[in-house]
Amino acid sequence: MGFDLQPALQKRKADNLYRSRRTLEGPQQPEVVIDGKPVLAFCSNDYLGLANHPEVIRSFQNAANQYGVGGGASHLVNGHSRAHQQLEEELAAFTGRPRALLFSTGYMANLGVISALLGKGDAVFEDRLNHASLLDGGLLSGAKFQRFLHCDPASLEQKLARTEAPRKLVVADGVFSMDGNIAPLKDYAAVAQKHDAWLMVDDAHGFGTVGHGGRGVADLFDLGMRELPVLMGTLGKAFGTSGAFVAGSEELIETLIQFARTYIYTTSIPPGVAEATRTSLKILEQDEWRREHLQSLIQRFRLGCEQLGLELMASSTPIQPIVMGEADKALSFSRKLEERGILVTAIRPPTVPKGSSRLRVTLSASHTEEQIDRLLAALEEITREDKA
Ligand SMILES: *Cc1c(COP(=O)(O)O)cnc(C)c1O
Repeated sequence: MGFDLQPALQKRKADNLYRSRRTLEGPQQPEVVIDGKPVLAFCSNDYLGLANHPEVIRSFQNAANQYGVGGGASHLVNGHSRAHQQLEEELAAFTGRPRALLFSTGYMANLGVISALLGKGDAVFEDRLNHASLLDGGLLSGAKFQRFLHCDPASLEQKLARTEAPRKLVVADGVFSMDGNIAPLKDYAAVAQKHDAWLMVDDAHGFGTVGHGGRGVADLFDLGMRELPVLMGTLGKAFGTSGAFVAGSEELIETLIQFARTYIYTTSIPPGVAEATRTSLKILEQDEWRREHLQSLIQRFRLGCEQLGLELMASSTPIQPIVMGEADKALSFSRKLEERGILVTAIRPPTVPKGSSRLRVTLSASHTEEQIDRLLAALEEITREDKA
């Protein structure tokens, strides 16, 4: 009786798709101890090295003294602290929008926003490589769900032209999380406006890493609120903390407060996380050298891979995947790197399409040139062994 869970687990293993976790000792940084072994890691999303920044930590500690730890209630009950309010105001100013609203996670923000804006009879158009949370949000909303070809405004336009839904929402990642490329948002915005649709962008990986002062893809493409009414970002990546936000008009934010179920029915993030994020936002904006150093590491890594004949994706962001093809090849490469003390995760289906398994290398401003060279040297050894 009961569920027979074994067959699906066995199949995952047989397909080289089984996932398991490792235990990290200590903070997120390039040199970490994982499962008791010291390794040089290229897999965190802490692109600017703020997750373990002394000032961010101090703000977190001070806030714990002032506010305690837990948020204690949802925002609409009495869990909305001064710290949350101030962070929202600062995120609104940062994004150049009238308002911003905090969510507990990016996943919840995406589910909540899309299902608050759309319902049965509406239509949602998603880039086929969108983050799982955007796809799930679209499905949950009950709107007619359509995917268009990756980074293809013509494919989007074809689908938009054929719909008569009253509300149409176009949804895309700003920087694609598994590929590192940037969506053609100027074109998406133009097509969306032409067909009277709204555009929503999830800029989880663009905030902090691209645009002036790390203002993300909206700044990069100069997209104001008219072209890009729904702008979402996460705090767990370049911000180095945790949580997410949506920025937009007064009406949009009030709509989310009233109708986004993942906003309403959940506890606010700890006020200390909000205070830590206020500090990391300041550093993220001010420390231009972090973005400059990161860009120089990206150039160094790409040049090195090119010299080794490794296939990289067309990415100018800190996400620099090496294309492997089949899942077993990506896994074996990742294992060989680990034998050499280097950690890079193999990304396999269903996270990425079949046949496009990859090593997802992510670089951070906290890496040094010497560390990039160590990665390149290990890649060279493994490639040479593979050929021999
Ligand atoms: C990480 C990520 C999310 C989820 O954010 P969390 O705060 O980790 O839940 C959403 N969208 C994209 C594109 C992401 O990379």
